[in-house]
Amino acid sequence: MPNFISPAIVLRRIDYGDYDLILTFFTLKIGKISAIAKSAKKSTKRFGGILELFSVLEVVCSSRMDRDLMILQEADLINSFSGIRADLNKTAYASYFAEMVNEWTELGAKQEELYFLLCHVLKQIDTGCISDEISGILFLIRFASIAGIRPNLLKCSICSLEIDKIKEERIIFDFSRSGIICPKCAGGKSAGRLSLSKGTIKQLLWVENGGLIKAGKMKFTPLAIKEGLDLLEAFTAYHLGKEMQSLKFLKQIRKE
Ligand SMILES: [Zn+2]
Repeated sequence: MPNFISPAIVLRRIDYGDYDLILTFFTLKIGKISAIAKSAKKSTKRFGGILELFSVLEVVCSSRMDRDLMILQEADLINSFSGIRADLNKTAYASYFAEMVNEWTELGAKQEELYFLLCHVLKQIDTGCISDEISGILFLIRFASIAGIRPNLLKCSICSLEIDKIKEERIIFDFSRSGIICPKCAGGKSAGRLSLSKGTIKQLLWVENGGLIKAGKMKFTPLAIKEGLDLLEAFTAYHLGKEMQSLKFLKQIRKE
């Protein structure tokens, strides 16, 4: 079996026995893979101590017979993103993004667009060029589009009334319909719904449709950040069928 070479982001790292590590990489070329790094714990010389969470590496792996677990032969550092691991809030956000990608992707399924999105937001939170919260909004709304669960924020999911024609400033989002609902169609039901301001929805639409760089430069009000994150975190958890462990941790940090 020939060696496989690709840029790769470290999504998970687990100790395996006294000497080895098992890593989950999100690679550019073939999506998610698992690989064992022999003696990585015993000797830091073996991989130079670069097998850290969220780092971007160029990896060389060889396949075993079963193909579910590759063997890491070599790794070179492309970007360590060390600013993330030095900060609890940044680590919490990066862990959340990594867990989402790990949870949603299948082994060996190429996901180029998601790879570049993850790289982009990791770079943003590493450098701190925009707030971690806005990176969170950017990641989640783009993730939803790539995962095929794009929320309908443009018009009422029942009567198709456009958002600009809805007069009320507070608008209902319905999870089971994956979209907004106008006051006339809303009825009295409140389970599985969130209310948010029209301004927040407009900002989410801009983030969804603008380029990654432009979206990162947008100004958000504190209310839009809070409402946007509340909506997107609950919406993606609803569609993935569970809340990520790392999101629970992130919510705990926010309260402190
Ligand atoms: Zn309606």
